[in-house]
Amino acid sequence: MHYDLCNMRTVRELMDKYSVSTKKSFGQNFLVNPAVPQRIARAAASMAGSPSGVIEIGPGAGALTQCLAEEFDRVVAVELDRGLIPLLGEALGEYDNVSVAEGDFLATDLPAFIEEHFSDITGAGGTVGICANLPYYITSPVIMKIMESFDPSKPMPLAFMTFMVQTEVARRLAAPAGSADYGSITASIALRADVSKLFDVSPGNFLPPPKVTSSVVMMVPHKGITGFPETPADEVEIRRFDSKVKNLIALAFGMRRKTLVNALSAAYGKAEVAEALGKCGLRADIRGEKLSAADFCRLASYL
Ligand code: SAM
Repeated sequence: MHYDLCNMRTVRELMDKYSVSTKKSFGQNFLVNPAVPQRIARAAASMAGSPSGVIEIGPGAGALTQCLAEEFDRVVAVELDRGLIPLLGEALGEYDNVSVAEGDFLATDLPAFIEEHFSDITGAGGTVGICANLPYYITSPVIMKIMESFDPSKPMPLAFMTFMVQTEVARRLAAPAGSADYGSITASIALRADVSKLFDVSPGNFLPPPKVTSSVVMMVPHKGITGFPETPADEVEIRRFDSKVKNLIALAFGMRRKTLVNALSAAYGKAEVAEALGKCGLRADIRGEKLSAADFCRLASYL
């Protein structure tokens, strides 16, 4: 049987049948305008290869899952809310390319999960990506978990990450270095992926409507730290260099108001930092928030 999972009445009836209600504590704002999940699924699919697999974080009542099922060869969704699992079983019963796993995405071993569910797809030269209308209370932990799940000395085994996030967060993720929205999360993600904001989604497209405007972002992994010219060639050295760059970013943004020389002085010594900045062609009084991911890599190579 086919369910229109963006139809508020259908969703309410299914929720009544399974005695569940939307939970604020799980960040549940379900999409109720079919044009939105369709656009998200198509944007994600435009980055996929063939055969194609996608992991969905938080299928909720299945609105986005249904659209992903139309676009991808396989969808594996991870849902934290146990009460939604039987509902999803019925709502998505018509799709034999969808499976739903109950669990906390933040506790998932992502490389093992990809191996378990998609090894035939990757083995056949296909791609896997991640797509979600994210629960906003864990946006940064989810994104950082994905970034940290894979060995930095190898390319990330993901073709895309397509996420609905709060507009304010989308601005931060896609901010250019030196702008007001630029922060440690921007620089950390830029080490591994290119980010662009695709479109905005107003609160009326959700049930219940969130208090803020949302936006869809596309994050496409690039070569990672190995793509920066200063990165060493040896695998062990790459991992060490990656930690060093991340540590620099954390120190720089931990003391955002300080100049980089002062923020890094305890770790590296003022004179050394000033000299390294000079070698990078950067001013001695520059603040960390002006440095791009590439600048942080260059600086790390001189420290
Ligand atoms: N995908 C649905 C949609 O677009 O209508 C629901 C999106 S809703 C914003 C977020 C979903 O993520 C909810 O179903 C919520 O229960 C689920 N969720 C929250 N925390 C989670 C976690 N740690 N792991 C997996 N799913 C989670």
